[in-house]
Amino acid sequence: MSETNQAWFDRAVRVIPGGVDSPVRSFRSVGGTPYTVASGSGAYVTDVEGQEYLDFVQSYGASLLGHAHPLVIERIREAALRGTTFGAPTPGEVLLAEAITSRVAGLEQVRLVSSGTEAVMSAVRLARGATGRSKILKFDGCYHGHSDALLVAGGSGVAQLGLPGSAGVTEGAVADTIVSPYNEVPTLDETVAAVLVEPVAANMNLVRPVPGFLDALRTECDRVGALLIFDEVITGFRLAPGGAQEYFGVTPDIWCFGKVIGGGLPVGAFGASAKLLQNLAPTGPVYQAGTLSGNPLATAAGLTVLNNVTRADYELLTKRAQTFATELVDAISASGLYACAPVEGPLVGLFLSGEPIVEPKNFSEAKVYCENGLYPKFFHEMLQRHVALAPGAYEILFVSMAHSQADLERALFAAADAAKEVAKS
Ligand SMILES: *Cc1c(COP(=O)(O)O)cnc(C)c1O
Repeated sequence: MSETNQAWFDRAVRVIPGGVDSPVRSFRSVGGTPYTVASGSGAYVTDVEGQEYLDFVQSYGASLLGHAHPLVIERIREAALRGTTFGAPTPGEVLLAEAITSRVAGLEQVRLVSSGTEAVMSAVRLARGATGRSKILKFDGCYHGHSDALLVAGGSGVAQLGLPGSAGVTEGAVADTIVSPYNEVPTLDETVAAVLVEPVAANMNLVRPVPGFLDALRTECDRVGALLIFDEVITGFRLAPGGAQEYFGVTPDIWCFGKVIGGGLPVGAFGASAKLLQNLAPTGPVYQAGTLSGNPLATAAGLTVLNNVTRADYELLTKRAQTFATELVDAISASGLYACAPVEGPLVGLFLSGEPIVEPKNFSEAKVYCENGLYPKFFHEMLQRHVALAPGAYEILFVSMAHSQADLERALFAAADAAKEVAKS
């Protein structure tokens, strides 16, 4: 058969629902046929037709060093030769757990799992088990993976498809989930086991925490004895070497990680003090398990990434991303469109509008710009210019350490041109 994106997608939709294994990859909200990736290298991906794209998807943040980093590939290869899974402890798990805990102040132990969803789901169970309370508070537009209790008012693909939550989730499953607007400190009571927050909301486009928000959450949790859970699946080891704890100086009770710590392979982790984690089986009554947890290939990849980024690399990445964000707004604004590119560390958001933009502080404000129909047009104009953004207005741009200054300038040229086309229409 001919190697075209259309042909692969036609085959995909026959055997995979919607043709994708994760709804965020679908082109439903932007229209058109997804490009099917044949390979990736550094900041670029190449589709099955041989077209190369400068990639700002970067596996939604799982890739920090860029695609197919030679050292990461070598370590995965070496690990694979020793065997891929055993169902017994391996040194790689210990090394990755040491690497994670040594970088994050206050984090003493982690349990490795296979995805961010699992990490958050397990963290919530731990919080409920340890406190003996039922309620969980999450914020509108934050995404915490696809577990039943946390899909309600979710960002990312849930928002992209315009769903309030998900069919198939019972009322009972969400009865103990309280939803509150981001950047407003809720008043808690003693039924609340935990407050779950993305320290930087990166699944409703990018919404930054207003100064004092995270501190005030910490204080409010302490007042009623609720646990504070930071979902650092995106921010962990990206915002700073020590993640949001270091960046904002606020210490949660439980951390959730994913994406970066797997180096492109499936890993998640949740962690806390040793005392809190004593509640987890086999030492405590809160059960949590996984056949492939701490998988040798995944731990080798994750460890290689963490060990090969320096503080200076993070500083350079942040500086590059921030300059890029400023220049992206300038490039788009020249067309007459309005743009706002909020940045926090190296995380970059992008809101477009026909009118001046006030930087959104919560999901309902973000929605106004994400639903005005401009993003799908901009997305396709960029794709035609071989720059791949996420196919949904609620995602952010991931600048990896492989994106050179020249790559970013290329993206800016494309953006200026793309915006002109969008402004014409
Ligand atoms: C991606 C993401 C998750 C879910 O991780 P998966 O590995 O996709 O299960 C959870 N929380 C946040 C903040 C995320 O961005």
